[in-house]
This record gives sequence, C-alpha cells and structure tokens, in this order.
Amino acid sequence: MNTNRATPPFFALLTLAGLVTALASPIASQAYDFAGYYVPAPRQSAFRPDAVYSPVGMGTVTSRGGFRVHPVTGRGDFHNGVDLAAKLNEPVYCLLDGIVTRVGKRGNLGVAVEIYHPYPNVRTICGHLNAYAVRPGDIVARGRVIGYAGSTGRSTGVHVHYTVVKEDTNEYIEPYQFIKAVPNYVAAINSAEGRFAYAQNMRTMPKFDRKLIDTDTEDLPAQPPKREGSPPASLEP
Ligand SMILES: [Zn+2]
Repeated sequence: MNTNRATPPFFALLTLAGLVTALASPIASQAYDFAGYYVPAPRQSAFRPDAVYSPVGMGTVTSRGGFRVHPVTGRGDFHNGVDLAAKLNEPVYCLLDGIVTRVGKRGNLGVAVEIYHPYPNVRTICGHLNAYAVRPGDIVARGRVIGYAGSTGRSTGVHVHYTVVKEDTNEYIEPYQFIKAVPNYVAAINSAEGRFAYAQNMRTMPKFDRKLIDTDTEDLPAQPPKREGSPPASLEP
C-alpha cells in the first residue's frame, strides 16, 4: 500500500499543535540573514532580588569555567566561561541591571549579547544565541529577556555560553561564582553607597559603538582566569 497521507503545509498551520509550536518559538529555523536574528522582546520576568538565577532561568550548569577539552577541537582549551544547558529559543535573561554594549556575530561565540554592569563593574557576555532581543545602548534591568538560546558559532548543540569580565583589569571572573553572588550585588545596588558607585561607573564607562557588530573573532581578553572558585576580592560587595 502506498497511500500518500502527507498534509499540505498550510493545513499543518491550522492544527492546534502547529499553532502552539508557532507561538512557542520566536523563530522557526536558524537559516536567517544577520538582520533576521533580531527578535525584540520587551519582556521582563519577576526575578526575586534574593534568589540565584542562571541566564537561562533555572538552567543547569554543564561546564565550569577553566581548562577543559573542547568538544569541537578535542584539544585542551582554556574555557573562559560557563556553558548552560538550554532549549532552542529558550529566553536568555539579564541577571543584573546594566547597559547593552555589544550585540552581534562574534566569531566562535556566534550571536552574542554583551552587557556592562556598572556595579560591580563587570561585562557579561551570552554567546551561541539564536536571536537577540536588545540593541547596543539599551538600558536593561534584572529579569529582562536579552535573547534566545541557540547554537550559533562554534558549538556542538544548543547551549548558552556565559562569560564574565572585570571591566577595569580585563580579567575573567569565574562565572558560576559570579552567578551565585548576583543577589549580593542586587542588594548592594539598592544601598546608597552602591547606587553612587553604579551612577559613577555609568558616567565613566568606556565609550562604545552603538552599532551591531559582525566580526570573525571573539574579541575577548587573552588572560587565564583567576584561581578557580574564587572571584577577585574587589568584586565582593
Ligand atoms: Zn562555552
């Protein structure tokens, strides 16, 4: 028996499953021109100030920062961030108030969003995104959706790469330690002293080009990380 039961694509759109799928995923495939990666999302999630979240909500950490064998090259490779398990197009959140400094394709990092957080004076970078939801110059608050998880750049599967760089010294900070310390920074920003430091660093932050970037390099600092498991003392609120 060779009965052709294929459903025309437009009928698939009418099914409930098709409708749910269409609503659930901001974009249906990864085959887009660069401009198509922008999916604006002025969405804000009510993050509790005192709870620890990862950039993908309660996503699990699959690879700690430090040295490891790279899954693509097989070579020993310094890993400057942490890899967070994620589903395709799962929202990626801003953990701490800041300003978006760089957005775009960035070599091995794929589509990346970089945010400057005036307190505690760090930059965080989310890489391998399928789409971005903010543009350079956007002021973002804790809980804001900044993009959607994907597998762009050098990546073996959908995940979010999260890197934290200390702004004044350009050193890597162990990202998992940073994630765990974020509620302390939130509390500090709400103090008079923290608000002052935040405003001052926002005023004196380095200038940045408010355009989308598209480069072949990751354009990240080359130094090894601080001793694993201990963020620089100057980051403590
Ligand atoms: Zn990674």
